Amino acid sequence: MRGRIAAVLLGVCLLCTSCQATPTPATREFTALDTLCSVKIYDGQDALLDKAVGTVTEYEALWSRTMENSDIARMNAADGEAVTIDENTAELLEQAIAWSNATDGAFDITVAPCKELWEAATDVPTDEALAAAKARVGIDKLKTAPWRLTDGAQLDLGAIAKGAIADKVCERLLANGCTSALIDLGGNITAFGRKPDGSPFRVAIADPLDPSRTVLTVEAADVTLSTSGSYNRYYELDGVRYSHILDPSTGRPVDNDLRAVTVIARRGADADALSTACLVMGFDRAWAFLQTLDGIEAIFVKTDGAVITTDGVVTV
Ligand code: AMP
Ligand code: MG
Repeated sequence: MRGRIAAVLLGVCLLCTSCQATPTPATREFTALDTLCSVKIYDGQDALLDKAVGTVTEYEALWSRTMENSDIARMNAADGEAVTIDENTAELLEQAIAWSNATDGAFDITVAPCKELWEAATDVPTDEALAAAKARVGIDKLKTAPWRLTDGAQLDLGAIAKGAIADKVCERLLANGCTSALIDLGGNITAFGRKPDGSPFRVAIADPLDPSRTVLTVEAADVTLSTSGSYNRYYELDGVRYSHILDPSTGRPVDNDLRAVTVIARRGADADALSTACLVMGFDRAWAFLQTLDGIEAIFVKTDGAVITTDGVVTV
């Protein structure tokens, strides 16, 4: 049977709620980054909606793998040659390299050849095909000075770009005097500041198996909540669903004791990279890894339905 990638929009999502006293925000909903996005501004700075959306599209044009002339597309097409990239791209690639090293490769922006193999597959890839794709994967193949890719490596920032772009939107809002907003980039939720009454935003974490249900609701201020799940986007081969998140150590889709992980961090890029990494690691390894980090909280939804949070998660 033909393989296909399917996306259940909002299969793993975060639902924003606000208390009755919160004024209606100026809201813009739009499609970008291959997903549904929205920006809500709560402090009357409605004119900033255009700037917020413009920031998303500006960085998408820089970091998309598929948009011609993006920094990432140019690096992927350079056939090993050095490429001049924007300083913001260089900064994000440095962050991605750091998270790849810190997670022992669970997070790896060079996993693209394996992803392409599964995306194009009409049957489960053979060991030989997987080995050939895996030979092109490894963060050591991304060279920094000058920027270039070796050994057929390819970049895909899909696991960190949404969080990083949310950070850029926040910078823009802050520079323009905004103090209160919610940014949703395909289920990556950023609580920028607090509600106008000074209380934290409330963000509901959806049940990955039934997004109409909430597993819990948390308080959030000046943080991004990034969710990675095995069930919201998947490849289907012979009626079997395979996660769109790959374990770079095997080149195979993740299949472990986690259904979804939400990571909460001040920096969106960190939340995004770490939610992907934790999903790859599985619960025990991810839990132990998070103990080594400061200021990072997480909500795990296990395949047996258990919901486990780190100590600093404030539930409502
Ligand atoms: P996210 O939804 O943030 O977990 O990102 C998932 C996307 O990142 C996938 O659709 C792939 O494009 C890419 N990806 C898959 N596995 C990994 C991985 N282990 N490390 C980094 N990026 C990955
Ligand atoms: Mg991610």
